[in-house]
Amino acid sequence: MDNYLQLVERIASASHLTADEIERKVEAKRAKLSGLVSKEGAAQIVAAELGINFDKERMKISELVQGMKRANIVGKVIEVLPVISFNKNGKEGKVSRMTVADESSNTKVVLWDTHHISLVEQGELKEGDVIEVSNASVRNGELHLSSFSDLKKSKESISVVVTKKPTLSKKLKDVKPGENLKTRALIVQAFDPRYFEVCPQCGKKVAEDQCINHGKVKPAQRALLNLILDDGTEALRAVIFGEHIYKLGLTPEEVFSLERFAEKKSSLLGEERFFVGNVRNNALFNTIEFTVDNIEDVNVDLLIHELEQKA
Ligand SMILES: [Zn+2]
Repeated sequence: MDNYLQLVERIASASHLTADEIERKVEAKRAKLSGLVSKEGAAQIVAAELGINFDKERMKISELVQGMKRANIVGKVIEVLPVISFNKNGKEGKVSRMTVADESSNTKVVLWDTHHISLVEQGELKEGDVIEVSNASVRNGELHLSSFSDLKKSKESISVVVTKKPTLSKKLKDVKPGENLKTRALIVQAFDPRYFEVCPQCGKKVAEDQCINHGKVKPAQRALLNLILDDGTEALRAVIFGEHIYKLGLTPEEVFSLERFAEKKSSLLGEERFFVGNVRNNALFNTIEFTVDNIEDVNVDLLIHELEQKA
């Protein structure tokens, strides 16, 4: 179930109203605010107006929605990424990121507070630990902790966790950063491929024939292709790397020659496929971008079969 609907269910059960009634209130609130607020945002306003307070309540990770300000979760740390130092406007800062999972889903947890970060640096928080997070906020599909948030080890044990994000079938107008998505969409625009060099052994980008893992290498050529996809509800920029591009029916010669690509380009437009991948925030352009890692043909017979099963 999508997390907006989970939130509606949660508000319904806390308010003794039906989910339909809550959804009508949410739509009314959005209409009143001229659509300036998302469904999730409007649902949170409706909850507050009904006197429902989630501040003390623990959420499942799958229930977290964009804009939540005081989210509380318990989950198992399944991945700790290296602490990154940065310099912003002359001020030194650090950020630490980890992936935390529970039985419903998983999320990136982002630490900004030096005390929290020191727990990671000193090895007091590590992979396999169960942690309790309170007063965190949900931004761009991630859970962010400030100095007002609490982070501590929990004595609870969680045995079964979701280490892979569920892949959602949604309309493009409803997708959010951090989600894994499968969508049926048309290619409405295709840009010329761009090329870059990678290490033939580890696939990492190389500069001046130097791989950070393997030293001097003879780099391999890789391509990336930007497309605009549209499913009728919204257009979304998609980026496809490497051999996934061939799944569009292009040959290596057509991908690596701009002339050959130009001959083939118009035949891509209007093509319909299933695209599978991950939705990310492009911080540079403040847009969302769909990194495609699989492309499937639209099998009309199978679709009809699925529809018959549902009916
Ligand atoms: Zn390498």
